[in-house]
Amino acid sequence: VTLCASNFIRNIIEEDNRTGKWNGRVETRFPPEPNGYLHIGHAKSICLNFGLARDYKGICHLRFDDTNPEKEEQEYVDSIMDAVRWLGFEWGEYLHYASDYFDKLYEFAEYLIKQGKAYVDSLTAEEIRALRGTLTEAGENSPYRDRSIEENLDLFRRMKAGEFPDGAHVLRARIDMASPNINLRDPVIYRIRHVRHHRTGDKWCIYPMYDYTHCISDALERITHSLCTLEFEDHRPLYDWILDRLTDVVPCHPQQIEFARLNLTYTVMSKRKLIELVSGSFVDGWDDPRMNTLAGVRRRGYTPESIRLFAERIGVSKADSWIDMGILEECLREDMNERAQRRLAILAPLKVVIDNYPENAEEECLAPNHPQKPEWGSRIVHLTKTIYIERSDFMENPPKGYFRLSPGGEVRLRYAYIVKCVDVVKGVNGEILEIHCTYDPDSKSGTPGADKRKVKGNIHWLSAVHAQQAEVRLYDRLFTQAHPDTGGRDYKAFLNPDSKKVLAAYVEPVLMTAQPEERFQFERHGYFVADLKETKSGKPVFNRAVTLRDSWGK
Ligand code: ATP
Ligand code: MG
Ligand code: MG
Repeated sequence: VTLCASNFIRNIIEEDNRTGKWNGRVETRFPPEPNGYLHIGHAKSICLNFGLARDYKGICHLRFDDTNPEKEEQEYVDSIMDAVRWLGFEWGEYLHYASDYFDKLYEFAEYLIKQGKAYVDSLTAEEIRALRGTLTEAGENSPYRDRSIEENLDLFRRMKAGEFPDGAHVLRARIDMASPNINLRDPVIYRIRHVRHHRTGDKWCIYPMYDYTHCISDALERITHSLCTLEFEDHRPLYDWILDRLTDVVPCHPQQIEFARLNLTYTVMSKRKLIELVSGSFVDGWDDPRMNTLAGVRRRGYTPESIRLFAERIGVSKADSWIDMGILEECLREDMNERAQRRLAILAPLKVVIDNYPENAEEECLAPNHPQKPEWGSRIVHLTKTIYIERSDFMENPPKGYFRLSPGGEVRLRYAYIVKCVDVVKGVNGEILEIHCTYDPDSKSGTPGADKRKVKGNIHWLSAVHAQQAEVRLYDRLFTQAHPDTGGRDYKAFLNPDSKKVLAAYVEPVLMTAQPEERFQFERHGYFVADLKETKSGKPVFNRAVTLRDSWGK
């Protein structure tokens, strides 16, 4: 489905198309820095940028903003490409690296110097900061601000040639130290870093800053609408200042448009904090199914469709807000409900012996693969004298209104017979070892007259002879607080100690051949996926993606 609810960005594009501002061209870009794994916040930006290109028959570029060589790695580049493709988007030939523009960026910097619009400053980083001023106080000019063009060019060329150590000089845009916008107080646009770059190797020892690189990269790619998050609103005047100075040498001047970033409850949304969770071993790696990285949500069982639906549903606005985790989970439920075949699994087994059922008999019961999709057919589950039910489906002293099994009570075994509990066998410490039932041979589901007698409870079960053991991991939210990141306390204080439980469960025999990423509804338990990494042939591992209903905080 291509949903396209209107939003303020679409309105801008439609107006531009109407006035012919870009001759009908729509080009966007997704510009990640390859310094970590993408998270669900990035998915919002990916769906937005690629979605607009798709809907307006335009182009969306994938650009790696790789100007911080210390933090960037090929591993992250690869994982980012995987994540974008997994979400269902393709950049085709429009793959770029800001580092591909290093020559051009350098050339434009010399051009700015020659226009008197940039200068080499030899103050230390601390001195520059001290002279920058504050929100209420204007900054002060550096004593090096009025160096001659010749001297600036000479120093900048020698910076490039590697004559100076890190920090000896920087190149700054010459704008206005008294500007009320601190971003315009002669921002640094180049710094010296004698560091190997993951793509350009040792070619460069000076690297351009983000603000300088970003607008020029956009212009070189002929981006029309450059979408970024609200924090960059104050940077827009700098974006425009730089491109206005370069009008004669770049192909166009894209429009920067800011939108509200995604803030999601029960999670933290910055790469830095996600790195802390991994390096501190609070989770089992970047793709731990509890992580909100795209690699993590994928292993958790999220589908690309569910994430795209989420992005569409939360929309795009100009106002910062919080999105409830329940909305993301609901998108997954809706998608899974459509695509997941139903299966039976017993997570905490209790043995049940059906006393009046023939010894060694085995009987076929038909279980539909999807209750609303008869075209998906049914499968056979076998009934035998000894079965397992969930421990939680039996109570010795049930409260009023308990419709599952209890002494003397009756329930329907789903797809099979009505049984009645006739005995409870206990161990020396009073723990329940097994229960005994009798069944009503005239009550088999699907046979004439089976529903003559109504019973309220309807529980699932597995034949003890046929059930197979498989590892099942019950994942829950990683944090117990909706806003772990706020209120001054360390977010790690709110880690949910019960966010991962590993069980040896009983499952239907057909589940033993589940393929990695095959998805199922385990009836009454939730939606599960066969783990992408750890499912081996004949030895599945199932992750609970989401429960059937939202029970959080209830
Ligand atoms: P982080 O602070 O988590 O490292 P970032 O913004 O530094 O995130 P980038 O790699 O620079 O990460 O982001 C690439 C793109 O994704 C940017 O255009 C950015 O605006 C967008 N983006 C990042 N986080 C979010 C978010 N929470 N919601 C929407 N868009 C986001
Ligand atoms: Mg960034
Ligand atoms: Mg960042």
